Amino acid sequence: MRSARGILMTVLIVLTLASACATDFPAPTPNITPDYTEPPLPAKAVSLQTDSPVPPQNTTECGDPTASLRPTGAGAAAHGPTIDAIRARGRLLVGLDAGSNLFSFRDPISGTIIGFDADIAREIARDLLGSPDLIEFRNLGSAERAAALQNHTVDLVAKTMTINCERREKVAFSSVYLQAEQRVLAVKDSGINGLADLAGRRVCVVRGTTSLDNLRRYQPTAAILTVPTWADCLVVLQQRQVDAVSTDDVILAGLAAQDPYTEVVGDSISREPYGIGIPKGKDDLVRFVNGTLERIRTDGTWRRLYQEYLSVLGPVPVPPAATYRD
Ligand code: GLU
Repeated sequence: MRSARGILMTVLIVLTLASACATDFPAPTPNITPDYTEPPLPAKAVSLQTDSPVPPQNTTECGDPTASLRPTGAGAAAHGPTIDAIRARGRLLVGLDAGSNLFSFRDPISGTIIGFDADIAREIARDLLGSPDLIEFRNLGSAERAAALQNHTVDLVAKTMTINCERREKVAFSSVYLQAEQRVLAVKDSGINGLADLAGRRVCVVRGTTSLDNLRRYQPTAAILTVPTWADCLVVLQQRQVDAVSTDDVILAGLAAQDPYTEVVGDSISREPYGIGIPKGKDDLVRFVNGTLERIRTDGTWRRLYQEYLSVLGPVPVPPAATYRD
């Protein structure tokens, strides 16, 4: 038999539901009229105010920013506090963008991350841990790279990251492993043939990049839309919400390979030397990574990786020479 208390509870619940129904209906007429004629912008897309001040020319001085630390050799014999701690953990944590065609891209068949940056990271894991598979990739947007290294959520960043003096204030870098040039991606026959044609046009760039700073500096009249990833920029170009995208030629080549109606145009806007990002103060890891880069420059691995992923850019060049400051 149900207790008086149980019956009271039931009555109360029914009354509460009834009053909720009474106040919720009829539903208020929404004052937003859905309009599906305009495609939506990607999440976190932000238009830059055209009157916001152009960033000043980077005045941070550090000599040659690409000069790194001389390698101590890569392999089981190398020791140091950071590399020993990674060995004790048994996995190398690497930050990259899992949607960057040619550099770090989830292969739809195998589900693994493939590309030039991902495989350079695997070569480091091979030398450090004895296997290219002892690696854990963490997805990062361009704007999150430095903070991920500063917070030690990753051991390394392998994500098309330009070495410059401003960034060297916050993070350390390996020697240069790829030389890129900033250029422009446009729809074929759009009449956009380079930086000069972007005056007053809508251009997509990713936040937290040298590409954004360069574009604002060299083409201040462009109406800039910022998004979290370069794949987002391809979408807004395809939806004709912008007229062009501007970043490194090698990234643009990856986007052009995904859409045959687009092409990379114009001269170089800026030279962008890529380095592996490493937390500051981890000199043993910098030297170790430089050892791996020395090995792959000379044993044919760098050539093979370029051939495998970046041959859309043309014949395999000589790998960039390392410079050291010690
Ligand atoms: N190389 C440029 C940079 O480091 C753009 C590359 C990217 O966003 O991944 O900011």
